[in-house]
Amino acid sequence: MSYSLLSRTLAKSRKEHQCIWCCHQILTGSHYVREISTYDGHFQNFAWHEACRKDADQYFVESGAEEFTSGNEMPFHALYELEASL
Ligand SMILES: [Zn+2]
Repeated sequence: MSYSLLSRTLAKSRKEHQCIWCCHQILTGSHYVREISTYDGHFQNFAWHEACRKDADQYFVESGAEEFTSGNEMPFHALYELEASL
């Protein structure tokens, strides 16, 4: 297994993206993490909520895992729902 991070940037979303971690939408106008990487030679281009990226980092450190599956619990989900409903 080989993972290499090519770039990780904080961007402002101009359209809705789907977070790779929690599968919820990233709201237009909010900041999100854009991560471009390769995994076993496959090109990956992921969008993350900032909080989800932090959770993922913690997950990788604590579990020692190299992979993850989408559909994780979103941190601060109540806050997100509030924001999404505006
Ligand atoms: Zn997320």
